[in-house]
Amino acid sequence: MRYREYIVCETVMYEPRFIVDTMLGNVARWLRILGYDTLYSRKYKDWEILRLAEKEDRIIITRDTGLHRKALNNGFKSIYLSMDDMAERLAYIALIAGIKLYVDLERSRCPICNGELRKVSKEQVKDKVPPRVYRVYEDFWLCSRCGKVYWIGSHWIKIEEILSRARKLLEEYKARKYG
Ligand SMILES: [Zn+2]
Repeated sequence: MRYREYIVCETVMYEPRFIVDTMLGNVARWLRILGYDTLYSRKYKDWEILRLAEKEDRIIITRDTGLHRKALNNGFKSIYLSMDDMAERLAYIALIAGIKLYVDLERSRCPICNGELRKVSKEQVKDKVPPRVYRVYEDFWLCSRCGKVYWIGSHWIKIEEILSRARKLLEEYKARKYG
């Protein structure tokens, strides 16, 4: 098991890990892009989510009130997401679990499989990306588990837009909570 440590308010905290319920696949992808070890499967039953949360000390993220209640009653950490907007969801998770709302590809995980990404040379991906992408981009990352290749393409603007809105919302939530 590998933890990355970081310092918040002079307290050393461990990075949270997550398990996401079957209805929130897009939340799982976002958490992975942000670098958080996140389990997700469309096949999970509630009992499996609870068992994995316990065994691997993961925070449950759900929009199922029944699962949320069961988790809390059993002493697990659980975040209930009632909202649909992704920026609101991320801000709320950040408020409760302290995740960072910035992408650092050095620590990102594969949104598809949760594998760790590693930077690779351009030559290494020559046969794995479309010729136009190979011509235009210089930096590539490879998933160490499923082999999918990533680069900072045009969709990046959208990602940054949502994160920037999420950071603003987080400030509002904090002001409401602590203000
Ligand atoms: Zn992967």
